[in-house]
Amino acid sequence: MSYLNIDAQALNTYDAIVIGSGISGGWSAKELTGKGLRTLVLERGRDVRHVTDYPTTNTQPWEFEHRNQLRQEVRDANPIISKCYAFYEGTEQFFVKDAEHPYVQDKPFDWIRGYQVGGKSLMWARQTQRWSDFDFEGPARDGFAVDWPIRYADIAPWYSYVEKFAGITGNKDGIATLPDGEFLPPHEWNCVEKHFQSKIAARYKDRHVIMGRAAHLTQPKQVHYDQGRAQCQHRTICERGCPFGGYFSSNSTTIPWAAKTGKMTLRPNSVVHSIIYDEKKGKATGVRVIDTNTKKMTEYYARIIFLNAAALNSNLVLLNSTSNRFPNGLGNDSGVLGKYAAFHNYRAGISGEYDGDLDSTTDGRRPNSPYIPRFRNVLKQETGFLRGYAAGFSAGRSSNSDQSLVGADLKQSLLNPKLGGWHVGSHMMGETIPKESNYVALDKNLKDPYGIPQLKISIAYDDNDDKMVKDYQEQMTEMFTEAGFKNIRVRDDHRNPGLDIHEMGGVRMGKDPKTSMLNKWHQLHACKNVFVTDGASMTSTSTQNPSLTYMAFSARAVDYAVKEMKKGLL
Ligand SMILES: Cc1cc2nc3c(=O)[nH]c(=O)nc-3n(C[C@H](O)[C@H](O)[C@H](O)COP(=O)(O)OP(=O)(O)OC[C@H]3O[C@@H](n4cnc5c(N)ncnc54)[C@H](O)[C@@H]3O)c2cc1C
Repeated sequence: MSYLNIDAQALNTYDAIVIGSGISGGWSAKELTGKGLRTLVLERGRDVRHVTDYPTTNTQPWEFEHRNQLRQEVRDANPIISKCYAFYEGTEQFFVKDAEHPYVQDKPFDWIRGYQVGGKSLMWARQTQRWSDFDFEGPARDGFAVDWPIRYADIAPWYSYVEKFAGITGNKDGIATLPDGEFLPPHEWNCVEKHFQSKIAARYKDRHVIMGRAAHLTQPKQVHYDQGRAQCQHRTICERGCPFGGYFSSNSTTIPWAAKTGKMTLRPNSVVHSIIYDEKKGKATGVRVIDTNTKKMTEYYARIIFLNAAALNSNLVLLNSTSNRFPNGLGNDSGVLGKYAAFHNYRAGISGEYDGDLDSTTDGRRPNSPYIPRFRNVLKQETGFLRGYAAGFSAGRSSNSDQSLVGADLKQSLLNPKLGGWHVGSHMMGETIPKESNYVALDKNLKDPYGIPQLKISIAYDDNDDKMVKDYQEQMTEMFTEAGFKNIRVRDDHRNPGLDIHEMGGVRMGKDPKTSMLNKWHQLHACKNVFVTDGASMTSTSTQNPSLTYMAFSARAVDYAVKEMKKGLL
C-alpha cells in the first residue's frame, strides 16, 4: 500500500504549480516552462482552445438568434454580469453567470469574472499603459497604504520583455508620467481627435492627448508569427476570441507557447481549494484541488507555487489555506490579508458634439482610442483630493440609413448613409486609495457549490472618490469647451465598485512583514515558496489599466524564483 501511495505522490509532483491560466498565470506558465520547470497549471474553468473554442468569432450580426442581444431571461438571471458592456449574446460563454460562483456583497460590488483557460484575457479591452515612479512613489509621497518595495527601474526591463512578446501598439510620446515602451506602430487618429489633441496641447503644458497603448499586432514581428499569430484585422469583436491572434490573450500567446515546451501539464476543471503548508519544512508543499466534474479532492505537490487566480480569488485561496501555523490564512502574520483592497473609479463620463470638420468622416474600425494620462496632483498636491485620474477619449460621426425603405432603395440607402454630426466622449479612470476598511474575508456560514467558503466583499467609494468625480467633470468640461465642443453633458453613473474590472490588493507588497504580505519579489514574507503576481499584490492602484504590470511582475518573479531554486534556496 505504501508503495502505491508513494507512486501516487510522485505522479502528482511537479517542479512548479501555477494557479489560474489568465493573464498573469499564462505568463507564469510560459516563463516557468521556458526555464525548464515541469509545471502544472490548475484552472478552475473549462478548456478554451485558441480558434476552435471561439464559437462566435465569425458569426455575422444577422446569424445570431437574438441579433447579438442578451435575452431578457439571461438579463433577469444575471443582474450583476449583465452590467458589463462586453457581455452580450456573442460572448455569453466566456463570463461567469451570477449563480455559478456566489459571493456575499457586504457592500454592493459587481464582481465580473471569466473562469476558463485564458481567464479574462479573452474578453479584456487590451489597454496596456506602463506605470512610472509617479505611481510607485504615490503612497510614500501622499501618505497612504505602505511604500512600494519596488520602483520603476526594477520593473522597466520586464515591461520591455513582456511588451516585445505580447505585441503592444503605441506611440513614443515622451511623457514622464507614462513611460514609452517597445511599441509596434500606433493606431490612427481621426480629424476631430487630432483637433482635440492640438487644442489641449496649445492650452495646457501638462495635459496630453495620446493614442492608447494596446495589446494589438499592428505590424507583427517574427516572434509573433512564431506564436502562430497574425496582423490585427480591426474587426473590433475581440472579446469573442480572435482567430488571427490579433490581440494578446493567454489562449493565443502564452499558454500555447508553454505547451510547446512539453513541460506544461494543463489541468482545466480544477478548483484550487487551498495551499498545503508543511510546518516541519516551514514551506508550502502543494495544493488541494477539487475536480469540478467528479467533485473529488486531489493533492498536487511542487517546490514553488505561483498564485494567479485574479486578485479577489487569490485572496480567497490564501484565506482558505489555514493551518496551525497560519490560522488566519497562509502567510497572514501581519493580519493584513484581505485588507487594503482597491479598484478604479470609472463612475464619471462626459459627452458632447462638434460641428466642425463636417466635410470629413471615418472609414473602417479601430480597436483602440486616444488616452489622456493623469494630469492632476502629479508634481504637487493641487486639489482637495489625493491622487488623480486618467481618461479615455474618442470622436465619431453617426450615420443613418432610411429603414423605412425596402429592396434596392434600402440597399442604396445602406450604401450611402446620411451623415450626422460628430459626437465626442470621454470616461474617467480614477485611482482609489487602499484602506483597511475596504476588505474581503471568508463568510462564516455560506459555502460555494464546492463547499469552499464564499468570499465576503466589503468595498466602497469614499469622499476622495466623490471629489475626484467632480473634478474630472469640471476639468473635462473646460477642455471640451476649449476645443469648441457643444452640448456638453457630464454624468456620474454611481456604478458599483467592481464594474471597472480592475480589483486589486489584499495581498499587498511592502518592505515590512508587519504591514504587508509580500516582499519585493512577490514572495509571501512568511512562506517564501509561494509567489502572488496578480492584482492581489498591488500596494496601490494608480490610474493605468493594470494587466501589463501583472505580466511584467509574473515574468520578473519567475526569473527570481528559478535563480533561487538553482541556488538551492527554494
Ligand atoms: C471586459 C473587460 C475589459 C478589460 N479591459 C482591460 C484593459 O483594457 N486593460 C487591462 O489592463 N485590463 C483589462 N481588464 C482586466 C483584465 O482582464 C484583468 O486585469 C486580467 O485578466 C487579470 O489577470 P489575472 O491573471 O489576474 O486574472 P484572470 O485573467 O481573470 O485569470 C484568473 C484565472 O484564474 C482562475 N481561477 C480563479 N480561481 C481559481 C481557483 N481557486 N483554482 C483554479 N483556478 C482559479 C480563473 O478561472 C481564471 O481563468 C478587462 C477585463 C474585462 C472583463
